[in-house]
This record gives sequence, structure tokens and C-alpha cells, in this order.
Amino acid sequence: MNATTATPGAAALAAPVRTAGGALLLDGKAVGARVRAEVAERARDFRARYGRAPGLAVVQVGEDPASSVYVRNKRKSSQEAGIESFAYDLPADTGEAQILSLVHALNTDPRVDGILVQLPLPKGVDANRVMDAVDPAKDVDGFHPVNTGLLAQKRPRLRPCTPFGVIRLAQEYGIALPGLRATVVGASNIVGRPMALELLLARATVTVCHTGTRDLRAEVERADLVVAAVGKENFVPGEWIRPGAAVFDVGINRSASGKLVGDVDFDRAAERAAWITPVPGGLGPMTIAMLLSNAVDAAVLRAGGTL
Ligand code: NAD
Repeated sequence: MNATTATPGAAALAAPVRTAGGALLLDGKAVGARVRAEVAERARDFRARYGRAPGLAVVQVGEDPASSVYVRNKRKSSQEAGIESFAYDLPADTGEAQILSLVHALNTDPRVDGILVQLPLPKGVDANRVMDAVDPAKDVDGFHPVNTGLLAQKRPRLRPCTPFGVIRLAQEYGIALPGLRATVVGASNIVGRPMALELLLARATVTVCHTGTRDLRAEVERADLVVAAVGKENFVPGEWIRPGAAVFDVGINRSASGKLVGDVDFDRAAERAAWITPVPGGLGPMTIAMLLSNAVDAAVLRAGGTL
């Protein structure tokens, strides 16, 4: 593929940046800011029409340091976008029954359009049971089986934020997905699987790799588009990347030197890829932006509007 044939959407972003290796950087910070600006405008329209801001409840149980950073970011960004943020911080020893009763209360609270329960939940709490209890109409993470099922059936409603962020980033840079050979490395419920469904919806030909995959290298080598979502530093060596491929690195790992790094060997991969996401500054900011977008989508749908 050729990274110079970008769409007008990409041209309207700040000047495209090339990595030292030559690949075009897929700037999740810039595109995320654009999505957040759209969200702010839609939140203003919603408020003008319905007399209240869209509402997002963010629930955190315990004080996992990484979760606290994510939760703070989500609350701050939602307020900046004109979404009312409702904070629920529960102590680490909160039982499943109490968490479920909070979720049920939020399900019926008319000011709340979106409910986000930050994962991981403390040991002993069944995260599936908690996620299943969220009203699918308020499931801004898109993790509820109803929303996953709708995506699988080609009629997406609230879409999982990170995979949706990959699709939006690809669109902004004019990466045409139909017909591409796409390989997703990782098959979790929150990233790998919905990523495969999104790429299928976009008419790519999709391969999903996981711990049972026999020849991972061969699956990555023939891909025009690679999504890495494993959670292991340098898991995908640069020389596996097909020349001209688009590389989306979802992984977030803390390297020995304390830096945040992805799953792909960035420097080597950037010498072969046509497009590549940085870590940080790629799918992280896109994920938050798509969450806010989902919150406004949920508010509009709940009010009887259409997207
Ligand atoms: P997970 O641990 O639930 O899933 C990892 C997947 O990788 C599994 O499907 C597993 O089969 C696969 N895998 C593990 N070892 C493998 C191997 N040797 N060969 C092939 N496949 C293998 O993780 P997750 O929740 O999907 O997250 C993945 C990464 O993405 C993590 O680093 C996480 O922090 C990051 N993440 C980032 C964002 C973001 O906003 N950027 C959002 C969610 C997750």
C-alpha cells in the first residue's frame, strides 16, 4: 500500500509526520482531539435539545494505580467534552452484590446515559456478571454480549472503544480496508475478538491469532494490516512486517527502563510499514475519544434519536 495517497481527512490533520524509519505516523492524539471536538459539538446540541448534558457514570472499585490514571483521564476528558461525569469510587473490599446494586441503580437513573465499570475488578468479583448487569443501552464500553452480538451481526450499536478507534484512525488516514488481508494478534473479549468483527464489517479478510496459533510469523508476514493486542513488549519483531503494511499497536507495556511501549518492535517495524501507530499516542487517546463518542451516541439513542 502507498502511504502518500492519503484522503482529504488526513490532509486536514496537522502536517503528517514520518518516523525515522519512513512509515507515516498514525497520530492518535491528533485524531482523538478531532473526535473529541465532534463529541463536544454533539454534546452541546444534545443539551440544547433536551435541557441536560449527556451523563457518564465511571465506577472504580479499589485503587489499582493504572486504573486510577485511566479513570481520572476518562472523567476529565468527559467533562471537557461537555458530558456530565458521575464518579463512583468504591473501596477494594466492596462485594459483588454491592457493585451489582450500584449498576442496577445507574441503569434506572435517567441522568446517566453511559455506565463504565473500570476493569480489572477485585479478586472474588465476577467481572462477567457485573458487565452483563449493565443495561446494553448504557454499555459505553461495548462489552455487553448484546452489543458484541449486534456487531457480529453487522448491525453495530455501541462499539468496543479500542477496535472502533482503530477503524476511525484508519479512515482518517485514508487506509482503505475492503479486501485487505488483516491479521489480529490477540483474541481477548475486549480487544482481539471485537477487532476482528470490526475489520470483517469493514470488509477486510481477517485472521485472528492467539496462543493456539501454529505459525504466528507467517500470519503476520502476509498481512496488509496488523493489529497487535497481546500485552508483551517486542512481541512482534519488525522483520515480520510486510513492506507497505499498516500497523496498529494496541499493547501497553512498561519496559525495564520505565518507558511505555507497545507489542511491536517500533523502530524496525517503521522501516517496513507504510503506516504505524506510536505507543504512547496511538490507540490510547483514540480509545478515550471513542468512549466519549459512545456516551453521546448512547444519550442520543436513549432519547429516541438516530445516529
Ligand atoms: P489479554 O491478556 O486479555 O489478551 C491477550 C491475548 O493475546 C490473548 O487472546 C492471548 O491468546 C494472546 N496471546 C498471548 N500470548 C500469545 C502468544 N504467545 N501467541 C499468540 N497470542 C498470544 O489482553 P487484552 O486485554 O486484550 O490487552 C492486550 C494489550 O492491549 C495489553 O497490553 C493492554 O494493556 C492493551 N490495551 C490497550 C488499550 C488501549 O487503550 N490502548 C485498551 C485495551 C487493552
